[in-house]
Amino acid sequence: MERVLVIDDELSVRELCRRALEAEGYQVKSVSNGRQAIELAKEEPFDLLVVDIRMPGLSGLETFQAIKKFSPDVTGVVITGYGSMEVAIEALHLGFSGFITKPFEIDELITAVGEALEKKRLDRENARLRALIPLFELGRTFMTTLDLDDLLKQVVRTVKQETGADAISLMLLDKDGRELDVRASLGPPQPGAKEFANWVLEKGRPLQLTDENSAEPRLKEVMERENISSVLAVPLTVKEKLIGVLNVSKSKGERPFTEGDLELISILGGQAAVAIENARLYQEIIRERERAKTLLEATFSGIIVVDLELRIITFNPGAEAITGYEADRVLGRPLPEVLGADICGEDSPLQEAINSGQQIAPVEVTITGRERKLDILLGITPLDDSYYLLSFVDITKLKEVDRLKSSIVANVSHEFRAPLASIKAYTELLLDGLDEGDRALRQEFLSVIDRETDRLTSLVNNFLDLARLEAGVEIKREPLLLREVVDDAISPLETQVREKEIALQIDVPSDLVLPADRELMVIIIKNLVSNAVKFSYRGGQVRIRGWEDESCLLFSVEDEGIGIPKEELPHLFEKFYRVYSTTESGIEGSGLGLVLVKEAVEAHGGRIEVESEFGVGSRFLVRLPKS
Ligand code: ADP
Repeated sequence: MERVLVIDDELSVRELCRRALEAEGYQVKSVSNGRQAIELAKEEPFDLLVVDIRMPGLSGLETFQAIKKFSPDVTGVVITGYGSMEVAIEALHLGFSGFITKPFEIDELITAVGEALEKKRLDRENARLRALIPLFELGRTFMTTLDLDDLLKQVVRTVKQETGADAISLMLLDKDGRELDVRASLGPPQPGAKEFANWVLEKGRPLQLTDENSAEPRLKEVMERENISSVLAVPLTVKEKLIGVLNVSKSKGERPFTEGDLELISILGGQAAVAIENARLYQEIIRERERAKTLLEATFSGIIVVDLELRIITFNPGAEAITGYEADRVLGRPLPEVLGADICGEDSPLQEAINSGQQIAPVEVTITGRERKLDILLGITPLDDSYYLLSFVDITKLKEVDRLKSSIVANVSHEFRAPLASIKAYTELLLDGLDEGDRALRQEFLSVIDRETDRLTSLVNNFLDLARLEAGVEIKREPLLLREVVDDAISPLETQVREKEIALQIDVPSDLVLPADRELMVIIIKNLVSNAVKFSYRGGQVRIRGWEDESCLLFSVEDEGIGIPKEELPHLFEKFYRVYSTTESGIEGSGLGLVLVKEAVEAHGGRIEVESEFGVGSRFLVRLPKS
């Protein structure tokens, strides 16, 4: 309901106006002089003043001007005396919308008031339309500006242009939603802007102040201090969440902000808030993306993303390192073409993820790498119903170790069991008296037990030696005659040599001396010679040579035995490693001998080399430094 204030010193005129206007549905108040009118208007805003031009004290025009100062949107109808046309024209200049001359008919009054208010409504409409143009332009900027700072600058510039404000500051709440930070501003600094903004935060509604109507004494002080005549501050809200405040002010002496200005910056503020939120979200997304990209690049895990047609969309450096394929070469290609058809085979985790749409916890899978087959631990996560994320680690080495461990356990336990079983069996034969007093038979049984006990002892010794060498023994160097050590080392092998009819040839000068650890030298020679004999064919030749050059003592063991396939040579000195063909042919061994030899040679600062041809023979060469 529109509010009208009638100001006239004649009671009868006041009453007449009041009744007539109330009958038209306006809310009407009346006072008898300008002072009272100003006081009342400060307390409650009016849309229209009906004011007598001539009154004792303040004139009608003066009163209207005073009220217009703090209530810029107010309009008025002036009542003039008969024949004072110039005054009426002046009144129109001052912003009155109409006039009536005394004495007037009620109809004249009602028409003048109606027209004045209609004009005011039109003015407001105009202001709205005026606001639409910058809004349209701003909207376009908002849609294209995703840089938050640029956007905020653009907002304050538009606000300045459209409201004629002297100072503008746009404040946003910090992350905790507590403190306001000035993020963009124009015009002289406004230390007091925060106080207005805090008022808005507190009340959650716009603030409109002029120096006349300021109801808040505290804010009024701020205005005085900063020479401000009028302030507008609107909350910036997105989906009912307050994100900041837009604050504008005019210096003293300027025309105060109008209702239209408030409306304009409210709408601008609303648009700006949405755009600010969008820019923030966009920046957040960009940051997220950067973070994800860094993660993707920094992780050692392989990450591959495929689309529903299983085409590779992402192939991170981890995936490159594991598979050996370059991302550039595989992007866009179907996954099974790159990693092998098994990757999406019937029982594959990928197929399971496709069928169930669920995440699949990591399982072991074999894929085709660029150079070889690989064992990987692969987990699958469906993304947004349109992608699958495959994350995996390489477990090829672990699987190899695992396989090796199983074969070691099988091997070692066999090595221990075989001699124990023989010993047990022959002991039982003796206990049961099955030799029947036959001395020769009894002797034979006992010698089997003896041999098997030796075998067991040597096995245990091998284990102990290895443990000792691995723990890092201190070697006891002493001058040794190599020939003597060789004789010592091979004497336990005599039976074997004889049984296999091996021609053992020893070419070691009897005066060849080297500074070395006797015990370790025995280990080296015994193991090499025993292997040479073991892997020789019956009647073959084994040659042991010793010589020296300037810096080293050299020692080699050569045989004409079964030899070692080329591809197995690099593994020869690995713990428990046994060449496939040897295990197949049932030759006994623990796969520890050469490890011991290597450790012992290296403990002396020496090196061991091997040359071998499958089916032709092998040669092991040891180089030991003389000092
Ligand atoms: P073991 O002889 O107890 O099996 P080693 O560590 O001494 O263990 O040898 C490892 C493997 O190397 C053997 O199992 C055998 O396959 C191969 N090897 C060692 N020496 C020879 C050799 N002189 N001729 C052929 N193969 C050999």
